[in-house]
Amino acid sequence: MGRLVAIVGRPNVGKSTLFNRLTQTRAAIVNDTSGTTRDRQYGKMEWNGMEMSVVDTGGWVVNSEDIFEGEINKQVHLAIEEADVIIFMVDIKNGVTDLDDHVASILRRSKKPTIVVANKDDNNESIYALAEFYSLGLGDPMSISAITGSGTGDLLDEVVKKMPEKDMDEPTDDIPRFAIVGRPNAGKSSLVNSLMDEQRNIVTDIAGTTRDSIYARYNKFGFDFYLVDTAGIRKKNKVNEDIEYYSVLRSIRSIEYSDVCILLIDATRGIESQDVNIFSIIEKNRKGLIVLVNKWDLVENKSQEAIKHMEATIRERFAPFTDFPIIFASALTKQRIFKVLESSKEVYQHRQARIPTAKLNEEMLPIIETTPPPSNKGKYIKIKYCMQLPDTRIPSFVFFANLPQYIKDPYKRFLENKIREKWNFSGTPINIFIRQK
Ligand code: GDP
Ligand code: GDP
Repeated sequence: MGRLVAIVGRPNVGKSTLFNRLTQTRAAIVNDTSGTTRDRQYGKMEWNGMEMSVVDTGGWVVNSEDIFEGEINKQVHLAIEEADVIIFMVDIKNGVTDLDDHVASILRRSKKPTIVVANKDDNNESIYALAEFYSLGLGDPMSISAITGSGTGDLLDEVVKKMPEKDMDEPTDDIPRFAIVGRPNAGKSSLVNSLMDEQRNIVTDIAGTTRDSIYARYNKFGFDFYLVDTAGIRKKNKVNEDIEYYSVLRSIRSIEYSDVCILLIDATRGIESQDVNIFSIIEKNRKGLIVLVNKWDLVENKSQEAIKHMEATIRERFAPFTDFPIIFASALTKQRIFKVLESSKEVYQHRQARIPTAKLNEEMLPIIETTPPPSNKGKYIKIKYCMQLPDTRIPSFVFFANLPQYIKDPYKRFLENKIREKWNFSGTPINIFIRQK
């Protein structure tokens, strides 16, 4: 958990091509409708049983042709601050450029595990060209072709080898872990302060060996949970606050270490792309979610209509996941903060809910009988039985069918919606699997 690989380098060396290959997304296609670049920024990959997150720091620069030294400085510094391993990408056809030299000098000083990767070695014949990149002073360069995929297996071996051991200070109890996330000025530290108004509320601080403490335990008003990365929320990095992707990158660790994320949205600003970006990380990690519309004290129009409209807008932006609590609150006046905790706790419980098999079949089979999966190529598709899998991270349901390959996503969504109508899974993603009976 919490392993992050960042890809840095000047524009056009092939960062996003590698990112897509590693995470196997085709961002442009996936995100046609949303009009954002969100999937280009953050994805998951696995190699030799190690799960890692990948960020393409270049993905945050809207017009990457215009990149200048100052911008790349920020990118590299963010990567150094947040990532565990850095892939520093260069173009084997261009040789070492001034900007490459500049980036290398920052990386050398950081002592962060770094791999120099010379891309666009499509024909595997640039051994001589590769030697030039020793001059960057960051160890043995590797050559790959992000387009053909050659060399990427070796690269991943190297990434795994360079990945630092994680400290084992994670709590092993069943106490929920909540992360407070949101863009700068949404009110995260105000919320932390409201909760932790007295130092003694912090029961334990589990210190990480390499980083600030990750978990602060909270025990008050009958709530017992960990808040993730409160130190990180309080420690403001003014230098970077102007950068849109800073807060997104900053959220990754908190989200990955949590069970339930409390996503703060600034009521006075409404929902923006940055909120959607953070949501997308929560979604990719399959975490629980509650949305806190903060600064509600500043909103004049609190009519039912205004509330409905705001709720609808939020659900629309986060679709197709729409089944989560939305709470209008104020971190400053503490209005409905209790409700926020209550909801977060409920979402945590929903993640662990178990539906008895008999009950599940009793409710679902008649629905499936009335609305069966559409037949495919003249073949009838039958679902005879279903069950919830034991011991899963999030509620996961298996439906046994004669021809599972013919049951497509829309029907799975239909099943999911029916489950959500019958039982309360608000705030948690659920998995639907179709298997051969
Ligand atoms: P970024 O700006 O660093 O994210 O670079 P992109 O991934 O957008 O790639 C820039 C250009 O280089 C695109 O036209 C890619 O198709 C091309 N490119 C990326 N990887 C390779 C590669 O391995 N070989 C070749 N020949 N071209 C590549
Ligand atoms: P962060 O960057 O997300 O940690 O945001 P802060 O907690 O620092 O809040 C940013 C600004 O918004 C500060 O001036 C806070 O006092 C203010 N603020 C935060 N929450 C509320 C709220 O619920 N109501 C009002 N009126 N102001 C708030």
